[in-house]
Amino acid sequence: MDLPSHHWPDFLPGWVWLCGAGPGDAGLLTLHALNGLRQADVVVHDALVGPEILSFAPQAELIHAGKRGGKPSAKQTDISLRLVELAQAGKRVLRLKGGDPFVFGRGGEEGAALKAAGIPMRIIPGISAGIGGLAYAGIPVTHRDVNQSVTFITGHDQSAAAPHKLDWEAISRASEVLVIYMGMKHVGQIAGALLSAGRPAEEPVAVVCDATLPEQRVLETTLGALEADLAASGLAPPAIICVGRVVEKRAVLNWLGS
Ligand code: SAH
Repeated sequence: MDLPSHHWPDFLPGWVWLCGAGPGDAGLLTLHALNGLRQADVVVHDALVGPEILSFAPQAELIHAGKRGGKPSAKQTDISLRLVELAQAGKRVLRLKGGDPFVFGRGGEEGAALKAAGIPMRIIPGISAGIGGLAYAGIPVTHRDVNQSVTFITGHDQSAAAPHKLDWEAISRASEVLVIYMGMKHVGQIAGALLSAGRPAEEPVAVVCDATLPEQRVLETTLGALEADLAASGLAPPAIICVGRVVEKRAVLNWLGS
């Protein structure tokens, strides 16, 4: 596929492009991401970036810098250092992250490390799993009948423990729709915290696994039954958990039939 006519930026040697790959379906890459993939010397990618997307950069060296909850992975400081070294060696470095680099992706930290080292960078946003992934399950993150706000939450804090620091009561009161990333490990604690904070047990919940990929699966349940239903389903990460009545819109909007 040729890129449509546009002033596409040249990927200059010694630059790092900090780029989102979207939630999985290669068609959800941005054109800037595709342009970067085609010119990169090195692609430093996460575990969540799949082979089809990487195949758009056949000329590039691929470096796996995956971070995945619970599994041994490169340390964040090592990844940032690697990006700096590759750029200083004159490479065109595409740092490719799942979803959007600035949504629970530590893109801000990597960008700051590049800035501190004087490395020029371009930032290319991507479709975040908590928006695009839910859309592939037929769930709009906002709907006029349901919510005027949406809260994006991480189920892990920096120590990979459950997010004790979050004020679940305030979150429960403030936002009709909650979109939880990295929530699978601590799903019982998260559901318990929301119930204690006053969210009803019958509130609809969807768990969207491998969103936008051919193996996408969706569990529809309620807050009260979430932990047990999830355990019985055998579903595994990566998954987005959506709490709120927007989940009911799936009845009409589930275009994929997953
Ligand atoms: N920067 C990414 C999020 C990184 S955190 C983004 O904007 O989407 C990793 C978490 O994202 C996973 O634990 C999961 O909660 C979510 N995630 C990423 N890709 C996903 C997918 N294809 N399906 C479901 N969840 C996904």
